[in-house]
Parts: sequence; C-alpha cells; structure tokens
Amino acid sequence: MFSEQKRQIIEYGMLLDRYELVSLTCGNLAIRMPTGEILITPSGMMYEKMVEDDVIVCDIDGNIIEGDKKPSSDTPAILYIFKHRPDVNGVIHTHQPYATALSLIPGMNEFRVCFTGMANACCGNVPITPYSNAGSVDMGIDVVNNAGSSRAVILSNHGVMTIGPSLKDAMYAAVYLEETAKAYLAARACCPDGKINGMTDEQIQTMVDVFKFYGQGTATIPADLVNKKQ
Ligand SMILES: [Zn+2]
Repeated sequence: MFSEQKRQIIEYGMLLDRYELVSLTCGNLAIRMPTGEILITPSGMMYEKMVEDDVIVCDIDGNIIEGDKKPSSDTPAILYIFKHRPDVNGVIHTHQPYATALSLIPGMNEFRVCFTGMANACCGNVPITPYSNAGSVDMGIDVVNNAGSSRAVILSNHGVMTIGPSLKDAMYAAVYLEETAKAYLAARACCPDGKINGMTDEQIQTMVDVFKFYGQGTATIPADLVNKKQ
C-alpha cells in the first residue's frame, strides 16, 4: 500500500541526513494521502536502513492500518497537526542545529527572514515557540497555534517542525531555514550589537509571492513583481 510515497519518505529521510538536519535516528517524516491515511516513519530506525515495510500506515486517530513497527514517538503531535491543518499533507521534524540554536537566544521568539530563499521556502518569518517536551502532543499544539502562514516552527531547545501542502514543500522549508539560520548566526557573531542587515517587510512579501512562480508547471515570474530598478 502506497509504495511510491513510502519510498519518498525514506528518500527524504536520507536527504535530512545529507543536509545535516538530523543525526542518527532522530526526526521523522509523515505524509497524508488524499484518501486520508497517514504514513509515518518508524521510531528509532536509521533512515538508510529503512525499507518500505517499515513505514507505518495509520488513520488520523493513530490506529495502525499497515505495518508492524512502532511509529515515531512524535506521532501524537503529527496527528494533531494533520487534524487541525487540513491544508497540510507533509510534516517533517528535525533537530537541525543552527535553526534550533536561535531558540537559545534570550528574547528571540521569531526568526525574521533575511535570505530570499528562506522567504520562498518558509513563506515568511518563522515563529519560535516556548519549550515543550519531545514526544508530547504539545509540539503539535505549538505548531498549530503559532505557524500561521509559515511553513516552519522552531521548537525551543528541541528542533524544528516544517509543514506544507506536500512533503517536498516541508523539505524545502527545513533546508532553507537551516541555510539561513547558519548565515544569520555567522553574521550576528560578527556584529557587536547583534544586529544584522535584514530585509524589509515588503522585500520579504515579494519573495514569498515570487515562489508561487518557481519551478516547472507554473507561469513565468511577472516582471513588475521583481524588477524595481528600471
Ligand atoms: Zn525531536
């Protein structure tokens, strides 16, 4: 059942490792099928050792439909997100260190876009939520209550949850958030007052809008949306 999507989950799990968003067996990935079933990675297994049969298929209440492995320990949070965000069909949880490091900075409750790629992939600024325990439904509540239109939420002292209409969208958000967080922290370390050259709200919104025209199968970017200097 759902062989293609199970393969995608495993392939993306290995991508998380390649982009250094997880170490060993941490993190998880989940897809909601158009027919409502949820595919979730198993608890505590290495992504490169995973086979299709290891990916669990369950219903929205967590009842197992297929698979003999124990699903991710964050399943309650993942199911909470799917229940409360009907627009979300892909969820990824990582322990990506640079984005998570932002939650250690006192007083920081939002990571403001400062790279165009982050605006594109995360659809704007990324909230940083107060601490919640790993394995709790609270993680999911934090995502639902704070994400707004953002495709990523930083969970303090823990990691990141990314969400999107597809697993691919959630993957893009995780990767570009990490890239931007890395650059932000490097720049901030060079600024004695901790302030960096950021982007304006208008610049951020333009880059959010531009992403609707990115990739194959979309229209060309309208010139007047991006060209401002002639
Ligand atoms: Zn975690």
